[in-house]
Amino acid sequence: MNLIIMGAPGAGKGTQAQIITDKLGIPAISTGDILRGAIKEGTELGRAARSYMDRGELVPDDIVIGMVKQYLSSERCKNGFLLDGFPRSIEQAESLARLGVKIDAVLAIEVDDEKIVERMSGRRVCPGCGASYHLKYNPPKTPGRCDRCSAELYARSDDNPETVRTRLATYHRQTEPVKKYYAGQGLLITVDGNQAIEEISKIILDALSRLGSKNDTDKK
Ligand code: ADP
Ligand code: ADP
Ligand code: ZN
Repeated sequence: MNLIIMGAPGAGKGTQAQIITDKLGIPAISTGDILRGAIKEGTELGRAARSYMDRGELVPDDIVIGMVKQYLSSERCKNGFLLDGFPRSIEQAESLARLGVKIDAVLAIEVDDEKIVERMSGRRVCPGCGASYHLKYNPPKTPGRCDRCSAELYARSDDNPETVRTRLATYHRQTEPVKKYYAGQGLLITVDGNQAIEEISKIILDALSRLGSKNDTDKK
């Protein structure tokens, strides 16, 4: 399955992406994680992206689209993938279509804006595997350490309330229209993200398994 997960910053995309891809055995491709990795390594890509991310604005399309294209053409995506954080604009969605990539479903997690700042202030992420935790709602087993790879967790510099507000505005202006774009193609599955993590995963996995059996019937 070729999937996309959408939602405001802090809606729970990364958290759900990990659960879903573990279950389905496909890779999650997070453009945010790839960009943060590039910044950490000090590559040219990282240097080009940094100021946009610090301000909470979108990194320019020419940087991001090339990056995604390279990942999607890799061997590990040949049995499917889940894109987390891409496309984030109509232009990006159109360029994905131009690459000839067929999408099976687009999951949109909806969370009230008022909840977002609290989610972000308690978020701690793993520099090694990108796993996302929350001090209150999803704490790691050992405080400060990733359950999966034991790396030391950190708070993202762009998760401060001021940058979060800019990111939310960017989301409403540039990314939300993408939902309509996919709804028009009959691909959008909307999920209420104001519930517990396990509830949301269950709803998503149920919807995907219905979709899977429908696709099998259509093929017969
Ligand atoms: P969140 O999951 O909290 O929304 P991400 O880790 O997905 O945050 O993204 C962090 C930042 O990386 C964004 O604010 C943006 O600057 C940049 N970024 C990530 N994905 C894209 C994209 N598809 N297009 C442009 N910029 C992106
Ligand atoms: P995104 O990738 O959309 O930016 P994350 O998956 O990183 O979002 O989640 C943002 C923060 O909210 C993290 O600290 C995460 O542990 C927490 N979180 C995710 N889903 C839920 C939920 N359903 N209820 C409460 N907190 C959640
Ligand atoms: Zn980890």
